[in-house]
Amino acid sequence: MTEDRDIITENISELRSRVAAAAARAGKDPSDIRIVAVTKTVEPERIKTAFRCGITDFGENRVQELVKKADILDVECKWHMIGHLQTNKVKYIIDKVCLIHSLDSIELANEINRRAEKAGRVIDVLVQVNVAGESTKYGIEPASALDFVKEVSRMGNIRIKGLMTIAPLVPDPEEVRWVFRGLRQLLIDIGKENIDNVSMKYLSMGMSNDFEVAIEEGANIIRPGTVIFGKRGG
Ligand SMILES: *Cc1c(COP(=O)(O)O)cnc(C)c1O
Repeated sequence: MTEDRDIITENISELRSRVAAAAARAGKDPSDIRIVAVTKTVEPERIKTAFRCGITDFGENRVQELVKKADILDVECKWHMIGHLQTNKVKYIIDKVCLIHSLDSIELANEINRRAEKAGRVIDVLVQVNVAGESTKYGIEPASALDFVKEVSRMGNIRIKGLMTIAPLVPDPEEVRWVFRGLRQLLIDIGKENIDNVSMKYLSMGMSNDFEVAIEEGANIIRPGTVIFGKRGG
């Protein structure tokens, strides 16, 4: 598997230069952009290769996969839950994740809060916002986001750290620049409210297809998968 290892290593190095170039265009330091490598369907050995290249943050959208990988990988990975989370599965990940990107309902917030309290933890979360208004996507509507954040801010074992969105998959990422810009504006607007227990620090946006545009629009967490590990299921 040496060849595969070389490909991943090369992919990460290319990703880093592209991130650095986009960060420069945004007037930022590349180290301000946190790369969460998305490992869905990726085998643990290949995740380890990415870890050896200095990637420490990994994202999964399925509870079962996250739990399995967090348990078998013997390296110090930080795990991010990036996909829709069912309330009855919160208990499995509560002691394994460093950040949940996909808070999308009050019921889910209540359950995270309850489980976090039991585990003696405070869980960092991002609110997923459906900026593009796609009916197939989860997320809070932009117009409801402020009220949602206020309500969750009263929960003692959850700390909101920012916002996340998934842009529609389009051939030209320029077409979704407005989505990223919209999320950034929302972050600024909510930040101005100075809500107790809430910090509007992280903007999680941008995947393999569109991370450069996302960084230009203010992303400081990106979630690339394919550009690191190659096409899934192929
Ligand atoms: C799959 C996935 C990604 C990564 O997508 P790529 O196109 O492989 O980079 C990022 N974010 C979420 C929420 C995902 O489900």
